[in-house]
Amino acid sequence: MDTLNILSKTNFVTLRWVKAHVGHKLNEEADDLAKCGTGLDTVFPPPIPRSLSKELVKKIFTTKWTEHWKDNPMCRQTKYWIETPGSLPHWVILISRSMLSLILQALTGHNYLNYHEKIVGNIHSDRCRFCGDKREEFYHLTCECDALAGERLDSFWELQPPDCPPDLTGLVRFIHMNCIGMALGRRIQ
Ligand SMILES: [Zn+2]
Repeated sequence: MDTLNILSKTNFVTLRWVKAHVGHKLNEEADDLAKCGTGLDTVFPPPIPRSLSKELVKKIFTTKWTEHWKDNPMCRQTKYWIETPGSLPHWVILISRSMLSLILQALTGHNYLNYHEKIVGNIHSDRCRFCGDKREEFYHLTCECDALAGERLDSFWELQPPDCPPDLTGLVRFIHMNCIGMALGRRIQ
């Protein structure tokens, strides 16, 4: 109709009904064009609902973010605990600020454990203060250190397989242990 309105501004247009499928030349041509049109892809796709757009964008970004997280060699210590982006439980935002600070220090490796203290040049040895055996980082304390077997059992309620980091709920109980919180949160001279 829009096209007809435009044409009618410079032409004398008359609309007339014609019987279909009786050999009328222009009607047959119109019929053929209509048939061709049904075989074409839609020229103007229907608008995508906003909710679907948001879902698609979120999916694409999450996929890219996960690929980057897995391919990037950085953040070794954090990857022990967080395998994919966005996998932290929502309750972490409900815990106290001081405990959240300790959790972040524990999971990122930016803490006062001897491994990091040696890296930043504050001490000369990165050996574990509890067992004196291996490098003192949070993974060692939670999964390996023989001297902390009792604290681990009290925190996680079951022995962890060597290469299986404990769940975050258990980690909070572990960090609540005085000796662990002290080691993570402040430098012991
Ligand atoms: Zn140790």
